[in-house]
Amino acid sequence: MEQGVRERFDVIVVGAGPAGTAAAYRLAQQRVKVLVIERGMAPGAKNMMGGRIYTHSLETLIPDFRERAPLERQVRKERISIGAGGDMTTIEYATNNVAPDEESYVVLRAKFDKWLAEEAEKQGALIISNVQVTELITEGSGKERRVIGVRCHDDEVYANMVIIAEGANTVLLEEAGLTGPTPPHSMAVGVKEVYTLKPEVINDRLGLNDKEGMAWLTLGDMTDGILGGGFIYTNEGSLSVGMVVGLEDIGKANRSIDDMLGAFTSHPSIAPLLKNAQLKEHSAHLVPEGGYMSMPKLGGKGYLVVGDAARMCMNLGYTIRGMDLAIQSGICAAEAINVGLRDSNMDAVSKLYEKEIKNSWLGKDLKLYKHMPQFLADTPGIFQTYPAFVNDLMRDVFMVNGKGAEPLMKKMMRRAKSVGLSTLIRDAWKGVRSL
Ligand SMILES: Cc1cc2nc3c(=O)[nH]c(=O)nc-3n(C[C@H](O)[C@H](O)[C@H](O)COP(=O)(O)OP(=O)(O)OC[C@H]3O[C@@H](n4cnc5c(N)ncnc54)[C@H](O)[C@@H]3O)c2cc1C
Repeated sequence: MEQGVRERFDVIVVGAGPAGTAAAYRLAQQRVKVLVIERGMAPGAKNMMGGRIYTHSLETLIPDFRERAPLERQVRKERISIGAGGDMTTIEYATNNVAPDEESYVVLRAKFDKWLAEEAEKQGALIISNVQVTELITEGSGKERRVIGVRCHDDEVYANMVIIAEGANTVLLEEAGLTGPTPPHSMAVGVKEVYTLKPEVINDRLGLNDKEGMAWLTLGDMTDGILGGGFIYTNEGSLSVGMVVGLEDIGKANRSIDDMLGAFTSHPSIAPLLKNAQLKEHSAHLVPEGGYMSMPKLGGKGYLVVGDAARMCMNLGYTIRGMDLAIQSGICAAEAINVGLRDSNMDAVSKLYEKEIKNSWLGKDLKLYKHMPQFLADTPGIFQTYPAFVNDLMRDVFMVNGKGAEPLMKKMMRRAKSVGLSTLIRDAWKGVRSL
């Protein structure tokens, strides 16, 4: 932007992640004059995540995305592993029967976000990169305070509505006093590495066919018993490998998160997968894990909050969902703004948006799992004693030492007593109720 330029748009979107770009795409489709401002060199440049996107909401936006989006592999295999003391117990689910609305794909965000932004540009959105929004411009005070635009260092741009899609680190919202400081217990830190391997090597090592992918989540002693876990996603010719660990708990750990990732990648059950792979990239990012209970106000006069900035992300232990929620929230924001513009009543937009969210699957899914983050935080056994319990049970089932067999039930009861039978039953009950 040129120095001192003062321009006006119908809508300004801060951040070209999936939430902001989805909103811009839908708005531009309806001929709304929309500007997206992204601080990265290009959309996706600041997004380290390589993970799985459930594509149902993307399909609502771009029905023929399968032919055009940079999709690495379709997830057809799921693995969940529980590790303790070098042992690992794994459940694998493979399917050849995925309905179109159930599909999910592994994507690399640097490619995916760039593609989505180009699609929004084709619809007529104006996207500028390498420009940071430094402040939200507001006027009035108290209940009449209204967001009227954004400042990017010396430049000011004005709009009828600002969509804040700045992601998990809600600096702009907090600095403008539109949300409180983020409680650390509702956030996690994710670190990720990308390892290149030939596609056929990935296929052989994980038993995949061409273009078939795997999502593999793990928990156990690699996080030193604190809330978190590891993940592996298969790209076409690389693996995204990382860990997500609760922000509040990191200080209690004996190791840094990078050391935990090192322990994960050198774990005897993981290291063979990465043999001779080249480390290409290492990055870190915040993940909002507080779910429904940590959601802020979704908007007010002149502004709406979408995606991670609104804490619309769910880590259920067996799957992480943020991108499909981000896209849906962008769509809901655009729909609400379209109604506001049509009726020349922009003050009704934030209530309309809240209603759209509440009535869509997004609000319902977040609400359904609202107790999950607290359950994971309040049940340290999941990350400490239970991984050892599960692996000891497996040892009892599969090991034969020639010293005479013991009834399996007796061995199982001995293991259960070592954890505490009543604790085990109580935690299992709490877990079932939070799902
Ligand atoms: C390690 C890790 C693994 C994950 N795995 C998965 C997964 O497998 N599946 C899944 O669905 N989700 C996953 N997530 C969550 C997912 O990444 C987010 O939920 C999703 O990216 C949210 O989209 P968003 O558009 O709201 O925010 P973001 O994707 O964070 O985009 C925000 C954008 O705003 C820009 N921005 C920020 N501030 C400014 C500013 N002041 N001015 C201009 N631009 C700005 C940023 O550069 C960025 O491009 C994972 C997250 C992490 C960290």
